[in-house]
Amino acid sequence: MKVLVINCGSSSLKYQVLDMPSEKLICKGLVEKIGIPGSMLTHTKIGLDEKFVLQSEMPDHTTAIGHVLDALLDPEHGVAKSLDEIGAVGHRILHGGDKFTASCLVDEKCKDAIRACIPLGPLHNPANLMGIEACEKLMPGKPQVAVFDTAFHQTMPPEAYMYALPYEYYKKYAVRKYGFHGTSHRYVSQKAAEMLGKDLKDIKLISCHLGNGASICAIKDGKCYDTSMGLTPLEGLIMGTRCGDIDPAAIPFIAEKEGMNFKDVDTMMNKKSGMLGISGVSSDFRDVETAADEGNERAKLALDMFVHRVKSYIGSYAAEMDGVDAIIFTAGLGENGKTTRAAICKDMDFFGIELDPEKNDVRGKQCFLNTDASRVKILLIPTNEELMIAKDTYEIVTK
Ligand code: ADP
Repeated sequence: MKVLVINCGSSSLKYQVLDMPSEKLICKGLVEKIGIPGSMLTHTKIGLDEKFVLQSEMPDHTTAIGHVLDALLDPEHGVAKSLDEIGAVGHRILHGGDKFTASCLVDEKCKDAIRACIPLGPLHNPANLMGIEACEKLMPGKPQVAVFDTAFHQTMPPEAYMYALPYEYYKKYAVRKYGFHGTSHRYVSQKAAEMLGKDLKDIKLISCHLGNGASICAIKDGKCYDTSMGLTPLEGLIMGTRCGDIDPAAIPFIAEKEGMNFKDVDTMMNKKSGMLGISGVSSDFRDVETAADEGNERAKLALDMFVHRVKSYIGSYAAEMDGVDAIIFTAGLGENGKTTRAAICKDMDFFGIELDPEKNDVRGKQCFLNTDASRVKILLIPTNEELMIAKDTYEIVTK
């Protein structure tokens, strides 16, 4: 069965078609600038060198998905003769609140619940819904599956997900930790169990998803036990442009000094902080590393702070789970940034974590990075959220 995987953002859309259950990627693409001048679709059929590029105004997600479906049926670049060949569509949905503990078939109830979570994911959930509704219009009756970034983290115990704010805000507004990147953490944890030759239920893992957005997850008994992102993706690790954990009292303090309102402060913490805010160079780790190598002290400070924060979460999660069997590195920086991986694993002998510098000289390949003597295994596992979405979709529509 061919499964179309769609990840809708507010002005962009990424997609892939995978053959399931063989897990073979058939094509992938990106639509940029939906609803803004200069909309463009770039489509790549696997095995063809030449890309298919379409520049045409796409005022909304329905028009954009219409062009995606046309590309899928294109005589040269397409992957199907008719849309009947697409068995199902899987959608990445940012926020499922506490309503979804797993992926599910899209129906009216599911859409209502995604809508109800809009206040928790105001930028993404409306776009995710638009993607679902566009597919309903263009492919009536096609089974669709919703896969939530938050679902994997719903197993956290209350002591991990509650904030020590007045309890009424939890009851009134569902203010608590939700966590994100759940599809990625779930995917790499399953791969880790395969690599270790163990049942997921018998191992304790710490999964480090280190990209532009970054989060870390403690996985015990095959379930999420704690994670670093919170009510929103702002909490936890230092990210490209997000500050991660800070003293919340800094917010009113800065707002008062600078004459900022809540929206200004929110933008500052989400878009102008993190690696960019500290280094003043870039949000991109490669640029920050280059600047640090050239002697830029603030770039070096940003990298040191990033590593310090990751280490402190690893220590804290090892303590929470009473041990750890393996640490996983994934996502752009986790998969490619050998210097950062080495810095994170440095001086962790107390925990039994020993990185092998030779094995660590690798990028984007599933492998072990630990020395033979290391009690804790260190795993590099390229993430594949689209494959996880396709797997869930296939499983749900064929069961
Ligand atoms: P997201 O999906 O959150 O946008 P990615 O998972 O694509 O992010 O990761 C992007 C980050 O990974 C960027 O900051 C980039 O600099 C970093 N990265 C990619 N390749 C390397 C590399 N070779 N060395 C260091 N960092 C890298």
